[in-house]
Amino acid sequence: MQVFKFGGASVKDADNIKNVTAIIASQPKAPLLVVVSATGKTTDQLEQVALQFVEETGKAFEALEKVKENHRQLLADLFEDPAHPIFDEIANSFVEIEWILEEEPQDSYDYLYDQIVSLGELISSKILATYAAHTGLAVKWVDARDYIFTDNTYREAIVDWDKTAEKIKRELPAVLENYIVVTQGFIGSTSENFSTTLGREGSDYSAAIFASGLDAQDLTIWKDVPGVLNADPKWFDRTELIPELSYTDAIELTYYGATVIHPKTIKPLQNKNIALNVRSFLNPEATGTVIHALNQGLPVPSFIFKVNQVLINIQPRDFSFILEDNLSHIFNLFHKHRIKNNMMHNSAISFSVSIDDTGKNIDNLLDELKQRYTVSFEKGLELITIRYFNQATIDRVLVNKKIIRELKDSYTCQLLVKNI
Ligand code: ASP
Repeated sequence: MQVFKFGGASVKDADNIKNVTAIIASQPKAPLLVVVSATGKTTDQLEQVALQFVEETGKAFEALEKVKENHRQLLADLFEDPAHPIFDEIANSFVEIEWILEEEPQDSYDYLYDQIVSLGELISSKILATYAAHTGLAVKWVDARDYIFTDNTYREAIVDWDKTAEKIKRELPAVLENYIVVTQGFIGSTSENFSTTLGREGSDYSAAIFASGLDAQDLTIWKDVPGVLNADPKWFDRTELIPELSYTDAIELTYYGATVIHPKTIKPLQNKNIALNVRSFLNPEATGTVIHALNQGLPVPSFIFKVNQVLINIQPRDFSFILEDNLSHIFNLFHKHRIKNNMMHNSAISFSVSIDDTGKNIDNLLDELKQRYTVSFEKGLELITIRYFNQATIDRVLVNKKIIRELKDSYTCQLLVKNI
């Protein structure tokens, strides 16, 4: 049993969908479940639809038109016969969103977001499944919302693992005996059958949920990079491919912000000893990286860069110590505003955190913090994490940079820096 996950870039246009279909077709006959993301930038565009709708700008339909046009083009490039039923099927999927947009936005933004944005994966998976079937493969499209059950924390839903694993185990193996199953990443459903999403980039996590429920032998995430590299090529000229790494190193790297895999993906695989392959859909012959139980560290130091950081410094007004009561209040505010700490540090009378500068929710957080604390902040910083650091690697990243904060443990060094 194998699970494949294809991200948005791998299905962004007709040529890429043909390439994905060829990769699926070239696999040996073992049962295969395929998890797919929304095409290209569709999720970003649907986020815009949700935003325009909730803010009542009158531009939601216009924003949706872009998504419709991209998919019309994609279908026209894939299917010669304009009477093929897929054209109507995708058009009908858009009608469901239009019904939402015709009403007043009465529900919460998060709820409406999930009902709108989940469409991206529903249509990309229908298109891939239909195209693959059109080329002669025995494919069945499956709605992930019938298998992945969540609570109602819209936009960041929490998976009900027991219920989900039970349903996957009970129903999917029989289907997989005769068909390649194509389903969606990123989405699930509540007990009341409302759509939920698992957080941005959550399709990797969906693939791990299916792999875990099916006790798959391995999960392969197909990407536009050759595998896990020791740094993002966006920031480093000389990157190296890491051919194998342990679950622990993979969890640590993704926790600190390596974007190659969604951070929640690895733990469920580790629990069941399911190997995770990261391979390139541009070069399917290459073996890429395998993440599995391994008793050795990374062969080379690895670097993770996070730009656009804000350092927030928080001090109790009365100069009392930073103790559990203050900390629990501060952490509750972070949780409420959905802000993740990338680095934190405290002294007796101050607590400081570095977070991604995501705009509006930071301003709201700062306003609330200021009600109880003296707050100062500095924007435009960069957070560099080095796993398996040494002095040479630190010197290498500090050229023209000044250290604002530094944290080290045995394996990992975090440097919050500013350009000089
Ligand atoms: N389409 C979703 C996103 O872009 C989920 C995913 O691709 O993993 O965030």
